[in-house]
Amino acid sequence: MAKRDYYEVLGVERNAGEEDIKKAYRKLAVKYHPDKNPGDKAAEEKFKELGEAYEALSDPQKRAAYDQYGHAAFDPRARAGGGFRSGGFHDPFEIFREVFGGSGSIFDELFGGERHDPTRPQRGADLRYDMEISFEEAVLGCDKEITVTKLDTCESCRGSGSEPGSTTKTCSTCGGRGQVINSRGIFSIAQTCPRCEGAGHVIEKPCRACHGAGRRERTSKIKIRIPPGVDTGARLRSAGNGEGGIRGGPSGNLYVVLHARPHEIFQRDGDDLVCEVPISFVQAALGAEIEVPTLSGKAHIKIPAGTQTGTVLRLKGKGVKNVQDYGVGDLHVRVHVEVPTHLNAAQRDKLQEFAGLCDPSVNPQTRSFFEKAKNLFR
Ligand SMILES: [Zn+2]
Ligand SMILES: [Zn+2]
Repeated sequence: MAKRDYYEVLGVERNAGEEDIKKAYRKLAVKYHPDKNPGDKAAEEKFKELGEAYEALSDPQKRAAYDQYGHAAFDPRARAGGGFRSGGFHDPFEIFREVFGGSGSIFDELFGGERHDPTRPQRGADLRYDMEISFEEAVLGCDKEITVTKLDTCESCRGSGSEPGSTTKTCSTCGGRGQVINSRGIFSIAQTCPRCEGAGHVIEKPCRACHGAGRRERTSKIKIRIPPGVDTGARLRSAGNGEGGIRGGPSGNLYVVLHARPHEIFQRDGDDLVCEVPISFVQAALGAEIEVPTLSGKAHIKIPAGTQTGTVLRLKGKGVKNVQDYGVGDLHVRVHVEVPTHLNAAQRDKLQEFAGLCDPSVNPQTRSFFEKAKNLFR
């Protein structure tokens, strides 16, 4: 099936600003949200399509790729050699270069775009930082400060690599092109110039601070604001906090990938919270009002008489605030009826007495089951 144009999906002009794209997405996402259109397959498809379009157009790099190559920019078959790095991290605080957005352009290589010019300024590599946060930090949001050691533009030479006051001269080996041509039979192979390493010029006096590299490894502290409602897998972009550029190119971005630790009591189900609460069999039989924990303190919930294990009671609005501001989820209290253990003689007597007072109508499920089972052996 042919894919619709992402701009068309969002109903915006091709030159729409970031804010307009966000607004258009929000409006349509509310309209087609599965909660509002239960069982409507067409709405569900629209909602998915919308998410995909927004993901591509809200990120400047992805948008640029889409503008140039259309849907082929995100086609995994066209990215056989590269693609996004996924999963498989070992040390949660390991930083590594992302395949996308590093120096040079993956799209140039794959789609035979403009020939890569080694003397051109290059954008610094994007970095990924895996951050573990608590359940509460994910749900409520928080501010974090991380320490990152990475290559930054050298302040002493401002990235040029030459000692302030000294000059550079055109490389005589490659004549400033940064490449040398080696002829082997009928083939000519362009290779990065071994003398200037592709820069096209050589430094007379290398910068003392960076030894001529133009970049230095530096450790810096970066503040990261984590919005409320995020969950494991959420990726935050810290613009310009990736590696410094080469030859005056812009810095890359830092991507923080979040991993929320599980909670002792609550589980996440999107924006809803699920909590299993044990109650006594007497409470289950007679009904009761019990106290349940919520993220914002205690709440009371009514257990109707005759409640069974597995019954789910809903506390509206006691879930997680949606990360994109689509309201607040619910708390689902799943009841678990606990059978008493370690009974003493008096308690056992009372239960025997109780059993003597019961006829099969007290346990309709049990009765119905054994009636069905009886039919099996007839
Ligand atoms: Zn320097
Ligand atoms: Zn050279």
